Parts: sequence; structure tokens; C-alpha cells
Amino acid sequence: MADPAQLPENPGGPGRHAGRRRKIVLSESALTVTLFLTVALGLLQDPRLLESGSILTGLLLHLVVLAACVAIPWSGVPVRAALIIPLLDFAVIGFIRSGAGESLSGVGLLAAFPVVWLAASQVSMAVAVGVSFVGSVSLVWVPLLLSGDDLVLRDFLQPFLLPVMLTGLAVFVSALTRDRRNQQEALRASKAALRASSEAGRRREQLLGTVLDTVDVGVLAVDADGHDILMNARQRAVHAAAAPAGNDDPNEAQLLVYGPDRETLLPPEERPVRRAVLGEDLTAEQVWLGEGRSQRSLSISSRSMVDEDGAFVGTVVSFMDVTDLALALHAKDDFLSNVSHEFRTPLTSILGYLELTMEAIETTESFPPAVQGYMEVARRNALRLEQLVEDLLAINAGTFQVRREECDVGRILSEAASSVRVKAARAGVEVVNATPPGLVAVADPVRLAQAVDNLISNAVKYNRRGGTITLQAGIDDNCLRVEVIDTGIGIDAVDLSHVFDRFFRSPSVRTSTVPGVGLGLLITKTIVIEHGGTISVTSEPGVGSTFTMRLPQDGATAGAL
Ligand code: ADP
Repeated sequence: MADPAQLPENPGGPGRHAGRRRKIVLSESALTVTLFLTVALGLLQDPRLLESGSILTGLLLHLVVLAACVAIPWSGVPVRAALIIPLLDFAVIGFIRSGAGESLSGVGLLAAFPVVWLAASQVSMAVAVGVSFVGSVSLVWVPLLLSGDDLVLRDFLQPFLLPVMLTGLAVFVSALTRDRRNQQEALRASKAALRASSEAGRRREQLLGTVLDTVDVGVLAVDADGHDILMNARQRAVHAAAAPAGNDDPNEAQLLVYGPDRETLLPPEERPVRRAVLGEDLTAEQVWLGEGRSQRSLSISSRSMVDEDGAFVGTVVSFMDVTDLALALHAKDDFLSNVSHEFRTPLTSILGYLELTMEAIETTESFPPAVQGYMEVARRNALRLEQLVEDLLAINAGTFQVRREECDVGRILSEAASSVRVKAARAGVEVVNATPPGLVAVADPVRLAQAVDNLISNAVKYNRRGGTITLQAGIDDNCLRVEVIDTGIGIDAVDLSHVFDRFFRSPSVRTSTVPGVGLGLLITKTIVIEHGGTISVTSEPGVGSTFTMRLPQDGATAGAL
């Protein structure tokens, strides 16, 4: 049987009210049809049935109830008030059952209709079962009590099977209804959660789209097969800039992607996007896209995406336009290189004439002795300038010629220590050479001396009165290890990773009077790298620093002389 009482009072407009009335009328009609068929069958057996006032009252009451079901505007009636209908149905069946007596056996079973109606309604299981029990017991006991007969306990117990069955039915239907209601609630909750999550997803997507089209960085996401799954507006512009003339829809291999020299086309397998698609994570890879005046420099980074099982599912690639920065750096390098070249010739001439003048002064007695000192200062500074020019030219060239040969490292370090001692003594710094004499290794002696000079010179410059500098060297793990240890001012942790950068000087040094342009360590590092080695630094501010170079020996003869 339908559950007409469960429809809410005003859940959703007139259509719902019509539906509620239809359900109530249909439910009541089911009883009407069954009731009238039962009475009709009873009449076939006993035509005098209709003479019973009780049966007529029952039928009449039922028709009144049915009419009420049709006539009442259920939209204004509280849901629970509709339960009066099944209660009245108990009375209808009670009248008919008491009027029919034995001739309409089983008419009491019609009480299953109101019992199911109640059990399927919104009332609690206890109320539904209680009312069903009282209603069905009344069905069988009220006629007995009204009969006026002398009754014994047996008379009450004999018809008790019907209330027991109907109460069992009420329990069963109530339990089913409760289950179904729980399921409906769970379904409603999961639908609401689904709606909320899809709404949240839609908003996130909208936000992502807006963010992607707002940022000034090209973003491309590809799946594991390399198919585009997302490309923002900026990236579409980047893609268009890399297209060859006349090709509006180039594939990755057809794009004009050049290396740092802006002229060498990168082979497809070396292109950043291709490598990112293959799962490589890139950090600030620089390429040039397009040709001519519209050529753009891009810094490309990427991060792979993996699923819960760690399988590669795609990658996100970002493209930052760094053209202005790259052009500015290029202009600076060009400028430095040109200026250095322009300085070189006059400096060589100045140094030459200074030497000649000094020789002339030495052989001429008429010059006051102080002039020789002035000339010496001028020569020293001209030499410093020359060294700086050489450094700038070497750095701009990017490489140093390294000629590896077996050399006496012990002697190189001891000469480096000796040549800096005068300067160190003036600064109140002691130089200790703890290198084993006669240490031999394979390296470029000139370049190694230059690298060591840079480190020792820094150790003096960034030291304090009373400080020390210790030189150590040895062969470890088939590597020449050279250490320059000082007890100087040290380097802040934030600066430590930058000391080998071009033109880097720590902020405290920049404001001091210590001379320097921030190229010495870069030159030292370049020399070490040309040897295939490494250089590292450890430092504690206020305590000192240790620079360690390691040059691989590749099994070549190395050891002590
Ligand atoms: P420069 O000495 O000309 O400034 P370098 O490239 O040799 O350039 O050194 C870069 C920076 O690293 C220095 O300016 C200084 O701040 C820091 N630095 C280098 N060596 C030392 C050291 N031994 N102790 C403390 N700071 C140092």
C-alpha cells in the first residue's frame, strides 16, 4: 500500500498537493474495493447480510470516509492528522465484522489495510505497533463485550490470533519503512554532498581558469602520453611566437627552439618540453623561441604528476618570459668585454713606460729618492688594474685554458704562502703552510697557483689582526685536496651559496673599504671545474672560513717526491 500520510504539507507547489490527495484516495479505494467484494461474496452465501444494521453502518461510515478523502483539501491538513483515516477504517471493519459474524469469515483481515497505512506512516514504530495492536484487539473484543453474553477467558483468547497477526504485520512494515527511510535519507545526504562537491569543483575550476589567465607566466599541462590537457592564454601566445613563418599549427618538433647562443636549433630530444613530457623535472632551463627581432627568451620549469601508485600521469610546465633580463645581462657582458679590451692596450703601454721610467730613475742620481717610491705605487696599481682586466676578459670568455701536468704542489703552495706573507704581516695575520713538502699531483701549475692565490688573498682581506691562515693539502680518494683555512670574519649562511656567483660581494664587505669586485672566487671555481674538480666552502660568522678544492687525479702519478 502507498504511504499517503508521508507526503509533506507543502513540499513543492500544487502538483504535490494533488499527488497527496490522489495517494490518500487511492489507498482508501483499495480498502473500498476489497471491502465491497468481500461483502458481495458474503451476500452470495447469505443474502440477509444487508439486513444487519451494523454492516450497513460500517459500509456507510466507509463511504463517508472515502468521500472525506476526496473532499478534504489535504494541502492545509497536518500530515499526522491524515492518520485519522486508517483509525476510522478500524471502526468500519469492526462494524462489518460484528454484523457479519461467522458468515463473513476473514473480514477481520481487512484490518491489514489500516495497519499497513499506519506502519508505513511517519509515526514512530512504537506508536504504529501500539495503535495497530489496540485497533485489532478492539476489532475482536469490542463486539464480544457488546454482545451481553456471559464471557469466559476462552472467549477472549479464541479470536486473539487476528490481533497477533496484524501486530506482527505492523512490526514488519514499520521495520521495512524505517529501513527505506534511512536509505532515502542516506541517498539524499549523498546527493547533497555530491552536489556540494561538484559545485565546489566547478568553482575551483573557474578560479584556476581565472588565475591561469591572469598570471604573466605560460602554463602547460600534459598527460602521460604528451597530449595537452591545459594551456593558458599566455602559453598560447608563447606557442605562436615559436611557430615557423607560414605554419599556424606546428607540432613540438617544428617549433623554433634555440639554445643560449640564440642560433643553434635544439634537437627535439633536448627540448625542455619534450624532456618534461618524458618525466624529467626541470628548473629554470633557458631557451630562445622564434627568430629575429621577435625572438623571446624563456625560463622553463616543470614538475611531474604521479598517481597514488607513484605512476607518472603527466607534467605541468611553466614558461617565464625573461627576454628583458637576458638582453640586459647580455648588454652588461658586452659592455664589460668591450671596456676591458679598450683598457688593455693603454694599460700595457702605461706599464711598459712605467718600467722604462723606473729603470731610468734607478740610473739617474738627480731624481729625489721619494720619486722611485711613487713610481712603485703607480706600477703596483697599474698591475692590479691589468689583473682585473685579464679576469674580466677570462670570465667573459667563459673558460680558462688548463694544461694538466705532473707538478710540485708543495712548492706551488709554499710560493703562494711566501708571496702573501708580507701583505699578511701588514694586516697582522699569520700564514701557516702545513702542506707536506714535495707533494706531487697532476694539475695546471699556473692555474692552480692562480686559484690558490685568490683563496689566500681573500683569507687575508677578510681576516682580522691576530688571525691566522693555514694551508693544507694532500691526496685523498684519488683527488688532490687543497684547503685554505682562515680565522677571519666568516660568511653568513644566507650568503654562503652565492660567494661563487659573478660580482657577488657580501653586504657587510660591500660597505667596507676592502677592495674587490666579486670575481676572484668565480675565477677560482672556473679553474677547478676546468680540472674536472669541485670547490666547497664551510664558514661560521665571526669564527672563520674553510675553502676546499678537490682535483681528480684519474690514477695519474701522484704522491710525494
Ligand atoms: P672579492 O674578494 O673581489 O669581493 P671574491 O669572488 O673573491 O670577490 O669573493 C666574493 C665574496 O665572498 C667576497 O666579497 C666576500 O664577501 C666573500 N668571501 C670570500 N672569501 C672570503 C673569506 N675567506 N672570508 C669571508 N668572506 C669571504
